[in-house]
Amino acid sequence: MTRLEIITALKPYFKIQELVCKHTYDAFGEKSWQFFDKDYLETLLVLRRDIFKAPMTINDWLWGGNFSQRGFRCNICQLTKEKTLAGKIYLTAHANGCATDSSLKGLTAEQARKKIKDNQDLLPCNIRVEKGVSWLHTDIYDNGSASKYSEFEG
Ligand SMILES: [Zn+2]
Ligand SMILES: [Zn+2]
Repeated sequence: MTRLEIITALKPYFKIQELVCKHTYDAFGEKSWQFFDKDYLETLLVLRRDIFKAPMTINDWLWGGNFSQRGFRCNICQLTKEKTLAGKIYLTAHANGCATDSSLKGLTAEQARKKIKDNQDLLPCNIRVEKGVSWLHTDIYDNGSASKYSEFEG
């Protein structure tokens, strides 16, 4: 799929405001799609459309909720900013356009991780999942893993 085809296919499932922080949306609007890695966008499409086949809640700031840093994080988002101000390195996949945190209605994070593992063959590239947390973190950071599905400790 081309990048345009992937974005077009994602739009029935996600508004861009669900995928980026408010800072980014306020500055770039619909152009905020540009900050995501193409392989990650395709991964998200396959997760939503083919693996979970159910709504994934990422950011909800658009509707007055508290989630704003579960998709793309900019340099002035609290989590990135506080690391920078403390002089700490913070190379999160969230700031490189290739990660989201989500929750799924009726599925625990552990069940969601298992579902990805069981369906990993459907994915376009290797996926990395954070283990042991109460939310579903997926990204495509890859140091040359031989397996399609891998877990890491955050
Ligand atoms: Zn931000
Ligand atoms: Zn995360």
